Amino acid sequence: MSLLITGGTVVGPSGSYPADVLVEGEKIAALFVPGGGPDGVETVDATGKYVIPGGIDAHTHMELPFGGTNASDTFDTGTRAAAFGGTTTIIDFAVQRTGEVVQDGLAAWHAKAEGNCHVDYAFHMILGGVDDDSLKAMDQLVTDEGISSFKLFMAYPGVFYSDDGQILRAMQKARDNGAMIMMHAENGIAIDVLVQQALSRGETDPVHHGLTRPEAMEAEATHRAIRLAEVAQDCPLYIVHLSASQALEQVAAARDAGRNVFAETCPQYLYLTLEDQLGAPGFEGAKWVCSTPLRSGKEHHHRDLWKGLRSNDLAIVSTDHCPFCFKDQKELGLGDFSKIPNGIGGVEHRVDLVYQGVVDGKLSLERWVETISTTPARMFGLYPRKGVIAPGSDADIVLYDPAGRTRISAETHHMNMDHSAYEGYEIAGKVDTVISRGTVVVAGGAYHGRKGHGRYLPRGLSSYLV
Ligand SMILES: [Zn+2]
Ligand SMILES: [Zn+2]
Repeated sequence: MSLLITGGTVVGPSGSYPADVLVEGEKIAALFVPGGGPDGVETVDATGKYVIPGGIDAHTHMELPFGGTNASDTFDTGTRAAAFGGTTTIIDFAVQRTGEVVQDGLAAWHAKAEGNCHVDYAFHMILGGVDDDSLKAMDQLVTDEGISSFKLFMAYPGVFYSDDGQILRAMQKARDNGAMIMMHAENGIAIDVLVQQALSRGETDPVHHGLTRPEAMEAEATHRAIRLAEVAQDCPLYIVHLSASQALEQVAAARDAGRNVFAETCPQYLYLTLEDQLGAPGFEGAKWVCSTPLRSGKEHHHRDLWKGLRSNDLAIVSTDHCPFCFKDQKELGLGDFSKIPNGIGGVEHRVDLVYQGVVDGKLSLERWVETISTTPARMFGLYPRKGVIAPGSDADIVLYDPAGRTRISAETHHMNMDHSAYEGYEIAGKVDTVISRGTVVVAGGAYHGRKGHGRYLPRGLSSYLV
C-alpha cells in the first residue's frame, strides 16, 4: 500500500523544507518537491503541518516491579499512549534482578512485551549485579540480542546498586565491546543516611524525598561516573534523567574535554519544581516522587537544562516513564516518603512538552526533532532505520499541527494512571496524525492501531562512538 503525504513541512536536524513524502509499505520511498509525487496514490493532507520522524522515547519502564508494586502501564497500555503522543518507538529497560541470570531477566522482558506493543520497541539492560557471569552476558547481548546499552545504579543500595569496582568492571567491558554504559548518578549510600535521619526527625511528607536527595549528591555521582569512565579508557557514558545544574556542569566539562559523555533530561525536570509539585500540601506531592528528584524553582535548573539542550550538553529528552496510580500505589508511602514508589508517567506528552519549548523560544524546531527522535536513534543504534524522514527509513511519521492545542489531563490521557503530572497544562501545538511503519495509527483524535503491531528492534552500536 502506498501513501503520499502532501503539503507539509518536513523537519529534521539539518533544517525544514516543504516536501511531499511517499510511503510504500512500511518504508519511506521518496521525497518530492511539493506536487511532484505520483498520481493515483492515497494522499494524506499535511497542509500547515510539520512532518517529523516519529518520536523515540529512550527511557521507559513498562510494568516495572518497584517498591512492592508494578508500574501501572503495561506494554499494551503504555505503547498505545505513546502512539497517541507521537512516539512510535520506545526503548524500555529489561531488568536483571540481583542474583538472576542476565539472559533470564531479558527473556522475562521479551515475554511481557511480545505481542502486546502498539509501536516498535527495543531494550536496554539493567544490570542488577555485576559479576563474571553478567560481564560475559554483556558480550552476548551486544552480539546476539541487539542490546548495546547497560544501565547501572549508583543509587538504591540493596536493590540495583553497583559499587565503584563493579561499575569500573562493567565500563571496561563496554569499552571492549562498544556498548554504552547508562548511569543513574546519585550517591545512594549517602542519600540513604539522609533519608534515615529525616525519618527519625519525623519528616515524612513527600517533599522530603527531594530534600534528602540534594543536587550535590547527583553532581558528585555524575562526576564520579565520568572519572570512572575515564579510567576505563573513555568508555562511552550516558547519564540518565539529569535534573540538576551542578550535574550538567560536570557533563559539560567532560564534553568540552572531548570525552564520550552524553546525557538526557526529562520533561519533569524542564517544567516542574520541588516547591510547586513535590511540596504540594499533604500527601499530594507523592505524585511527583521520582529519582532524581524535582529541583528547587528558586535555583536555575530549568533555565540551565534548556540551555543544555540547545548546546547539546543534553542530547536527548526521554521521559523515564514509570507511572504509579495515586490510589493504592503512591499511597504505599503514606506516613513515610521513602516507601512511595518512584516514578512519573509521561510517555504520552514528551513530544508536546518539548514542542512547547519551541513555542516559548527556548529551542529551535530542528533541535526539537533532534532531541526527541534523531539523536535517540543515533545514540542507541537505531539510525537510519528510525529518527529521520528519508528514503529507506521506516515510515514512522508524525504530522504535527502548530495551530492545534493540547490540554493535558487525566480525564483525557491514555496512560493507565489516575492522575497526570501535568494536569491542566496547555500546549500550543498538537499531534495530528501518527504513522507507524506505514500504518496510520492515530488520525483525527481516533485510534486505528492495534496491539501486536509493534516489533522488537535489535539495535546496533551508538553512532556517536569514536
Ligand atoms: Zn534511574
Ligand atoms: Zn528510569
